[in-house]
Amino acid sequence: MIAAGIDMGGTKIEAQIFGANWQATESQRISTPATYGDIVEAIARQHDWIAARTSPDIPVGICTTGLTTPEAGVSVASNVPTTGKPFRSDIKAAIGAPVAFINDCRAFALSEARFGAGRHARSVLGLILGTGIGGGFVLNGRLIPDATGVGGEIGHFGIPGRLMEKYGLPSVTCGCGRVDCFETYASGPGMERLAAAITGQSLNSRHVAANRHQAPEAKVWSAWCELIGELMICLTFCVDPEVIVLGGGLSKIAGVRDALTEALQRAQYEGFGIPDIRSADGGDASGARGAAYAAWQARNDAP
Ligand SMILES: [Zn+2]
Repeated sequence: MIAAGIDMGGTKIEAQIFGANWQATESQRISTPATYGDIVEAIARQHDWIAARTSPDIPVGICTTGLTTPEAGVSVASNVPTTGKPFRSDIKAAIGAPVAFINDCRAFALSEARFGAGRHARSVLGLILGTGIGGGFVLNGRLIPDATGVGGEIGHFGIPGRLMEKYGLPSVTCGCGRVDCFETYASGPGMERLAAAITGQSLNSRHVAANRHQAPEAKVWSAWCELIGELMICLTFCVDPEVIVLGGGLSKIAGVRDALTEALQRAQYEGFGIPDIRSADGGDASGARGAAYAAWQARNDAP
């Protein structure tokens, strides 16, 4: 066994152990407890499970939703009760062994870039389109190192005023405290808000996707594609990756890759190509495998 990962989300905490070929050999999934203390305890028990099946010093990475302030080490997350807590130091104390931490979107990007849909490319942007929007940029098999701890928070770019105006979108304060973030209109729940603004009806993202060839859903769908196309062209102007790997619930909509490829090409300057947009192929293992790989890299980088 080469490394292990623990993927903590709002509904489950999954531990996976990886062999030398980076395929998962064993996994154990438990429900995410409701309280902070129980979550810390549950992660420590998952670590015990890994150590009992491997060795106490196997590299272990933990991927979690949200951010951690670099100096105070305080967690900021929206769908788990860790906000305001010194989550990483509490986990380390409960486990009593060194572990690596990584944001879930960054873990996804690393896993897909190294083992998944981006594995033959030098530069890969992982883009999660789900309950939230986030990502990570991987160059030569490594995430760009964080300077301040917020690299990849790309769902919180502001939607350009011309698009807010074009679709008549009311201004919205995002869960992050900023105003008119892409996440507010282009995430899964965001598509619902977009549909309400454009059609006046309550339509969820699944309904919009399934009915996108007819009115009024077509207008919502094309607005959503234009929003994601705009987000991706900004990222392309910034890092110009060879490949963009899509993950998250909205990336599973049939035909979404082609629709977003067209949207990005429309947003691109005339005469220039665009990054190759691909769907993730790491399945449910991406978070845990990215975390395990980050821990393995950190161990091998150590002097
Ligand atoms: Zn935001």
